[in-house]
Amino acid sequence: MITELVLASGNKGKIAEFQRLLEGLDIQVHSMKEYPEIGEIVEDGHTFKENALIKARAVCKATGKAAMADDSGLVVDALGGAPGIYSARFAGEQRSDADNNAKVLQLLEHVEDDKRTARFFCVIAIVLPDGREFTVEGTCAGTILRALQGEGGFGYDPLFYVADLDKTFAQLSMEEKNRISHRGNANRKAVEIIRSLKNE
Ligand code: IMP
Repeated sequence: MITELVLASGNKGKIAEFQRLLEGLDIQVHSMKEYPEIGEIVEDGHTFKENALIKARAVCKATGKAAMADDSGLVVDALGGAPGIYSARFAGEQRSDADNNAKVLQLLEHVEDDKRTARFFCVIAIVLPDGREFTVEGTCAGTILRALQGEGGFGYDPLFYVADLDKTFAQLSMEEKNRISHRGNANRKAVEIIRSLKNE
């Protein structure tokens, strides 16, 4: 039985979105910003799953409450899976989304259209004070364009084209993106786990 959940994120958008998905479940959702005692978490895992678990375990341990963390990124086939877990800092520690996108474009410059396949990947970990751990995954397939397209979203969204919709992620509304995105898919699976924990 859980009544509270601490999200290992300070991102207001992510927290609001997850709170909305949990509506009606009567679970109090907290941001990790409410718990300065958590301190900095070193994400030194080698996979999305390891990093999500590292964050959720650290938050659970510091707060004594159920914790949830996600780790996500872009996996480009022609780049052997890069940027992968290094998506946020692909062009360097202090670099911007624009720098990261420019680096992907440059590395794919000579890659033909049919070889520009990619997917966004998201792992969510839920760790409980009694030691139980759960992970779920979400993915969304697309291709990498040759130039940025669209103004919305963040990160690699303007490069990530979804053929079914004939749009990039940066051309979708928040609702459209949540319906198909890696994070949306993983979030919905996480909600099911939380629902069953709430009812046990
Ligand atoms: P995080 O796991 O949310 O911190 O995301 C890691 C990085 O992956 C972000 O900084 C982005 O570069 C990239 N990323 C993850 N999800 C998305 C998305 O939905 N759109 C664009 N980029 C994303």
